[in-house]
Amino acid sequence: MELNFPATGYDFTTYVPALNWVGGSWAEATDKHGELEIINPRYGKAMSRVVMSGAADVDAAVRAGEKAFATWKDWPLRERAHIFYRLRELMVKNIDELAWLVSHENGKVFSEAKAEVEKGIECIEYGCSLPNLASGNQLEVSRGVACEVTYEPLGVVAGVTPFNFPCMVPFWMIPQALVGGNAFILKPSEQVPLSSMRIAEMLKMSGLPDGVFNIVQGGREVVEALCDHPGIKALGFVGSTKVAKLVYGRACTSGKRALCLGGAKNHLIVVPDADMNLTAENVMASFTGCAGQRCMAASVLLAVGEVDHIIDEVVKRSAKMKLGTEMGPVTSREAAERITRYIDQAEKMGAKVLIDGRGQRATDGGYWVGPTVLDGVTMDMPASAEEIFGPVLSIVRVPNIDRALEVENSNPYGNAASVYTTSGDVARRVMDNVEAGMCGVNVGVPVPREPFGFGGWNDSAFGQGNLTGWDGYRFWTRQRKITSKWSLQKDATWMS
Ligand code: NAD
Repeated sequence: MELNFPATGYDFTTYVPALNWVGGSWAEATDKHGELEIINPRYGKAMSRVVMSGAADVDAAVRAGEKAFATWKDWPLRERAHIFYRLRELMVKNIDELAWLVSHENGKVFSEAKAEVEKGIECIEYGCSLPNLASGNQLEVSRGVACEVTYEPLGVVAGVTPFNFPCMVPFWMIPQALVGGNAFILKPSEQVPLSSMRIAEMLKMSGLPDGVFNIVQGGREVVEALCDHPGIKALGFVGSTKVAKLVYGRACTSGKRALCLGGAKNHLIVVPDADMNLTAENVMASFTGCAGQRCMAASVLLAVGEVDHIIDEVVKRSAKMKLGTEMGPVTSREAAERITRYIDQAEKMGAKVLIDGRGQRATDGGYWVGPTVLDGVTMDMPASAEEIFGPVLSIVRVPNIDRALEVENSNPYGNAASVYTTSGDVARRVMDNVEAGMCGVNVGVPVPREPFGFGGWNDSAFGQGNLTGWDGYRFWTRQRKITSKWSLQKDATWMS
């Protein structure tokens, strides 16, 4: 099967049907749970289709993974990492093709899709660096007695990913899990299953043995089977809070290690001394980027005191945003309707619509909502507290920083929060007191880039640690502690 994606522009292009990838070959689902069209959101038209798999397909992938694991685990870590050196080169060489595929199946504009692939490559580079980072520890703990710690693979592990980053989020997991010596099963979002197929093909071209990486396409049935299968030792999940909580509970009940990242409601605190240009540009980019469909997107602007000059500038810049080339569509008709509903409701409850994205569109048939700024949003409005996941910025007016922190911290989510200020004192106060795992000072999308770990707090993450960076390696491995002596111990302790 030829998987090269031929698109070099936004013109509607079809793609091969989504298939499972098991033991290094394409496989039809055997345990079928219906079929879905894969919609290009720019046109609202099917570019491919996916058959939804079930528990029997998960079992086939586990068996392929177990077979491959038997020898893969014995490869030296350096040789496992070399696969990712080659994958990196392939992805760099084919970056435009990969970016067009992301753009078509997800909807984001080409520049954003390319940035997504680049970020995926950055995650791969972390995997490539593991031979330099992943040495264990060794210490003489008593005379002639040494303790040693090594990081060992778990076996067959799995990852479940959301629709908003079809190429990047799988690479939050794959490099650490595979370089760590595991076999992996990916369950991509059924809305965007196509990029993962190209990833599978490129991993094979990079020399990865068959069965070390597998894909099972589908939805809830597949995820539940991944949680329940005794052959799967760990599960990484990225998606909405509602599902993250369910998946975490179910995976833990079956005795698995689980780390499940959920949704977000990110607050930006803007104080009067903030730099106007820096703040306006950043805030605009944060809430409109990927049409607001990022778990790190700005959602609420907490305007502290008199900051109208900055808000005016945010409005001016956002109103110029060109739909279609600078901002893409949202993912589905349901998403467009949901986002519009939040705007309608806030307006009805008294919010002022400073820029109105309702009814804006760049193509017929696509799912569009333009940048929207709501002012005077109050805490009783759902737009102030719920995840809208669209290009909507809700401005909540507060008299001081204490109140800003109170509003931010009353939200159950804890993914990201930022402050815009030129005062180190204000920045420190916010950083010390805000309830969020990823914080920014004058940064609208405070993603901790490699080698730092990605992960939120509170209802934005269930489980221990972060999914990327060193925490990711720790998540996908277990520690072996070896205590040894080679001659009669030279002192007498309880170990003797
Ligand atoms: P989603 O929760 O609907 O789906 C995520 C995955 O879960 C998909 O693979 C889907 O097939 C599966 N799934 C859906 N319903 C399920 C169920 N009932 N049982 C088991 N599995 C189920 O999320 P989405 O709409 O694809 O993605 C958007 C969400 O993801 C937003 O809430 C966003 O904030 C969040 N997100 C979070 C992060 C993070 O790092 N915290 C990153 C990206 C996206």
